[in-house]
Amino acid sequence: MATSLVSTLPAVEGFLDKRHRSFLDGGQCRTQHERSMDILDPATAGVLTRVQLADLEEVDAVVASAHRAFTSGCWSKLAPAARERILLRFADLVEAHGEELAQLETLNQGKSIHLSRAIEVGASLNYMRYMAGWATKIEGQTLDVSIPMPEHARFNAYTRREPAGVVAGIVPWNFPMMIALWKVIPALACGCTVIIKPADETPLTALRLAELAVEAGIPAGVFNVLIGRGAEVGPALVAHPLVNKVSFTGSTAVGKQVGIAALQNMTRFILELGGKNPMLLLEDADLDKAVAGAIGGGLLNQGQVCAAASRIYVQARQYERFVEALSAQVGALSIGAGMDATAQVGPLVSKKQQSSVLNYLEIARREGARFAAGGQPVDLPGYFVAPTVLADMQQRMTCVQEEIFGPVLSVVPYDNLEQGLQMVNDSRYGLTASLWSNDLGRVMELIPQIEAGTVWVNNHVPVDPNLPFGGYKQSGMGREFGRSAIEGFTEIKSVCITY
Ligand code: NAD
Repeated sequence: MATSLVSTLPAVEGFLDKRHRSFLDGGQCRTQHERSMDILDPATAGVLTRVQLADLEEVDAVVASAHRAFTSGCWSKLAPAARERILLRFADLVEAHGEELAQLETLNQGKSIHLSRAIEVGASLNYMRYMAGWATKIEGQTLDVSIPMPEHARFNAYTRREPAGVVAGIVPWNFPMMIALWKVIPALACGCTVIIKPADETPLTALRLAELAVEAGIPAGVFNVLIGRGAEVGPALVAHPLVNKVSFTGSTAVGKQVGIAALQNMTRFILELGGKNPMLLLEDADLDKAVAGAIGGGLLNQGQVCAAASRIYVQARQYERFVEALSAQVGALSIGAGMDATAQVGPLVSKKQQSSVLNYLEIARREGARFAAGGQPVDLPGYFVAPTVLADMQQRMTCVQEEIFGPVLSVVPYDNLEQGLQMVNDSRYGLTASLWSNDLGRVMELIPQIEAGTVWVNNHVPVDPNLPFGGYKQSGMGREFGRSAIEGFTEIKSVCITY
């Protein structure tokens, strides 16, 4: 098939030519270390650039930078309208550099350039501007109190929200720029200072964002980036006594370690973790729309999406028709580099992720899955896996139970709705779910019975800055987005005045 490669901008080439390291006090860390790491292009397995890796001393230096900036008040004591204005200027700069950031992300992460433009940049811009607006809308309450002593005293009681302090934002590799901004912007809107720890594989856009933040007028030390191996610098960052809040997005296994470590210092934390998200097609579901929803919601970013549809429950009478239609469309998707504007499916982020997904496919084979589409290797140099539809799946099979984080859709038949609902909820995860039906009565009855932080109806995967996002069960603790994000980056102080 013909390819159409997007030409790399000179600004991107220039950025890749630089030697990168942690960002603190408004510029690159100056300490020289021996240890560095190659950053790879998942479409070719070639080296894009190298980054210098932080040691534990550098973790201290980055946290100290954020702490100094916080206690100096250079950001937290600015008038809310000034913080809002600077954050909006930051958004304008991200927009002006949108193509550069999108290319950088696609080269580093592998996702389609269309997705980088629309989501990493486009959706992030909406989010930045929405969250910037919160800087001027943070509020407390006045409260009537009934304190009996001293006799005849009068009271005025109110609450105020104060910035949580130094925030450590730990970010996964699937949406490196967008998820970093999910943490940075509400934290800054509240007056906090931030350290972003990008995933080992994908540090580049966070570093470029930190440069743009300085250009926008965000004071030195307010937005820092720690570059190091997660397993080494992550625990030191989480346990650091000067970190006040950890906002973690990643796997459930690492998230649990983060939560336990944070508790030792009573550091506040929020965990946004894994998912194994069901689509439940009711008998009246529009199968064409559900097929499009499964492809859009399940194979977006090669299925490397926490909210991705990955187990699809279809009533037995429609099962074969659905599997056939889904497999025909999935089998026809074109595979290629993210920078190829004609490719619909790109590489996975790393060799490790590719091996993990292929291992799941091997397990599916052993457990008796029918490969209705995909499953075979792709003859390209990068980390590709053909998009795959697994049919004849049963609830207990590994690929129905475990998060694969790859382009694999498991389709499970059900007999009656009660059984379908039971299987939907039969998961240790509870991030999102979608229902497919126009039977409003049934849908409204089902919504409260679904154990998930988000329920979509006749769509799967849209998120909005105003709509809280987070998981039930082992998909996490707390909510991001909307007012919840602001509550998460502030402490409540109660004030009681006697007069
Ligand atoms: P991961 O848990 O391996 O890594 C996440 C981050 O934690 C990385 O920055 C990593 O370097 C760091 N890290 C690793 N070990 C650490 C430690 N001991 N202490 C502190 N930090 C440490 O996850 P991943 O493989 O990068 O991302 C995929 C996972 O993220 C999937 O499970 C996916 O579902 C989840 N995710 C969840 C959401 C959500 O909003 N719920 C969004 C995106 C991704």
